Amino acid sequence: MSQRHAVVVGAGIGGLTAAVALHCRGWQVTVCERAPEPPVTGAGIGLAPNALRALDAVGVDAARAAGGHVPATMGARRSDGRWLTRTATADMAARYGVAPLAVPRTALTTALAGALPPRALRYGAAVTAVDGDAGRAVVRTAGGPDLSADLVVAADGIHSPLRRAHFPDHPGLHYLGETAWRTIVDAPELRVAAMSETWGRGERFGLTPLSDGRLYLYATAPAPAGTRSADPRAELRRRFGTWHDPIPALLDRIDRLDPADVLQNDLYDLAAPLPRLHHGRIAWLGDAAHAMAPNLGQGGCQAIEDAVVLAHLLPVGAVDGADPVPAALAAYTAARLARTDAVRVRARRVGRLGALRNPLAAAARDLAVRAAPARLALRGMDDLFDGFRLPG
Ligand SMILES: Cc1cc2nc3c(=O)[nH]c(=O)nc-3n(C[C@H](O)[C@H](O)[C@H](O)COP(=O)(O)OP(=O)(O)OC[C@H]3O[C@@H](n4cnc5c(N)ncnc54)[C@H](O)[C@@H]3O)c2cc1C
Repeated sequence: MSQRHAVVVGAGIGGLTAAVALHCRGWQVTVCERAPEPPVTGAGIGLAPNALRALDAVGVDAARAAGGHVPATMGARRSDGRWLTRTATADMAARYGVAPLAVPRTALTTALAGALPPRALRYGAAVTAVDGDAGRAVVRTAGGPDLSADLVVAADGIHSPLRRAHFPDHPGLHYLGETAWRTIVDAPELRVAAMSETWGRGERFGLTPLSDGRLYLYATAPAPAGTRSADPRAELRRRFGTWHDPIPALLDRIDRLDPADVLQNDLYDLAAPLPRLHHGRIAWLGDAAHAMAPNLGQGGCQAIEDAVVLAHLLPVGAVDGADPVPAALAAYTAARLARTDAVRVRARRVGRLGALRNPLAAAARDLAVRAAPARLALRGMDDLFDGFRLPG
């Protein structure tokens, strides 16, 4: 019997998870990534319990792949250092079966790529179009041969060329009014044990111990789209240099980095949900399907959920009888569209709170967060952290 073939467009976290999940189901997979080689720099990424459980369902143990160091607590602080809310990660592990983990992105993508068969992953292979009739999809690549596929997974990221080509009436992206910086530093002597996000007036600074013991730092600030300073390190010092310890010491570490190691992205989400997450033989997932504000740390987690659910809904890879792909893709939209859009909307709302610039409004927000018992706040995350289900 021959194998069904899936072409995955994009080797980010979503595309690679989909490729691994499909490979586990017996599909032949080809991943086309337009970048010439795997990324060497990058930030960290927080994997919430829902994503860890989804990865586990396809045999990927993120802690084994990327290191198992878990922060002791996580919470939000004011710029003077006062905690507004704090939760022990042990309580999260008790509630959700697993504690959240933050990993270097490259460690995760390397582990996922390593779970694929040799030659499944092609770098320098930009997909230019997907054509085809009801029977097969034809994937066109720049300068390479066309590929014939039973399924195309569009995991081509927030600017998804395939989304724009196949949903021409969709309004596209919405600028969230903020820019974000990210980097990783090594600072064992600072003994940072808590994952925290500190809120100022419109600005935020996050620090996250990574699974390998290093620290992932991120910061956000309101800015018109496209604003860039000559040196991001100086910009971070100007904005956050007077904030609580250990932020000034961490800014010293950032000063020692090459400026190119400080990533900067303006923040966008999808202006409106897609009408469906599939079209013909193409299924969209991750940022291509539902780009969201990073405030809940769920963009990548939802991409992982999408990938695992999609593979689960598809038949095992051997070709046998009638074509099951169209019905599976309709079931994928039914399983994923409402959940992912609810997360997108919630992430935008949370972002508006975090970005409050008015001092009175920011103080009222801080008071409200401090007044809420941590237990209740954690329960409010149940639908996210406990919401991963494989459809029956
Ligand atoms: C500041 C910030 C912090 C974040 N923090 C978190 C967090 O803690 N936890 C979390 O879960 N999420 C977080 N996110 C969101 C997360 O980064 C994204 O949701 C996730 O990386 C999306 O993965 P993806 O695979 O869908 O897309 P991407 O990672 O963007 O991958 C898309 C890939 O497709 C490739 N590509 C594009 N076009 C083509 C083409 N035509 N042909 C071939 N290849 C193509 C691209 O080169 C790229 O490699 C954060 C985001 C930001 C901006």
